Amino acid sequence: MPERVLKLFVAFVVSLGFFSPLALAKPSSGKEKSQSEISEILADRTLDKTVRFVINNTLYTLYHEVGHLLVDKQQWPVLGREEDVADNFATYILLTQKRRAFEQALKDAALGWRLEGEARGARTADDFYGEHSLDLQRAYQIVCMMVGEDRRTFAATAVEWGIDRRRQSGCKDDYEQISRSLEQLISPNRDKNSQAEVTINYERAGARLALAYKTLRESRLLESVADDIRNNYGLTVPVLITATVCDEPNAFYDSQSSEIIVCYELLDDYFDMINAHLEAGGGN
Ligand SMILES: [Zn+2]
Repeated sequence: MPERVLKLFVAFVVSLGFFSPLALAKPSSGKEKSQSEISEILADRTLDKTVRFVINNTLYTLYHEVGHLLVDKQQWPVLGREEDVADNFATYILLTQKRRAFEQALKDAALGWRLEGEARGARTADDFYGEHSLDLQRAYQIVCMMVGEDRRTFAATAVEWGIDRRRQSGCKDDYEQISRSLEQLISPNRDKNSQAEVTINYERAGARLALAYKTLRESRLLESVADDIRNNYGLTVPVLITATVCDEPNAFYDSQSSEIIVCYELLDDYFDMINAHLEAGGGN
């Protein structure tokens, strides 16, 4: 994003009052509070469409990385590709919050994968031999799990995405398998009294990534996800969550340091993605 536009945008966001301390600056501990904090953030009606898309996609990506963390440290079985497990975990966690704001987060995440796929253009061999499913498949899998979990609520979304009735029924079976499998892994550890040590570190972002930094920091997404990790998965190793400049729009999980790394460039990329989509007249 050119700097002039970026500055204007910062001013716009501030003028909207989106980052109101009332909604965001809440100390929290324990599952219920951390979830209500995220849900308050996401449900904020004054939230700008663009900022909302960025926050929602970042939230989805963070939970994808938490999925890798759990596969690694809790030695979750992986029957299929780990990347698909991480995606399904992220979708499952957001879906089971049963709140409208999280439903929008999943819709935004699916849109994010579609836009990512469109931006990438023609497929090449490395897309097919890579560890991830194709971007558009990742988008459809989110929608499939949504309609699989609750057909009444998400039938319209499935139709919008062109998923036919037969596949919608199949999605129900898929969802039941995935939720049963994940619950077997998650429920024995949920709400145990032990707490994992989770440390958040915001590294400097510089002027170019100032909006990404501000959005991540003031949204308190990392704090909310950290609270969830601390309390609900029975982790015994200390976990780090680091926001940093990486020179690429990405997020990672580092097994050696038990660290989730989110790049400021990723948020910047989400801003560019949704701005281009809205400018082109796309809905959200
Ligand atoms: Zn991954």
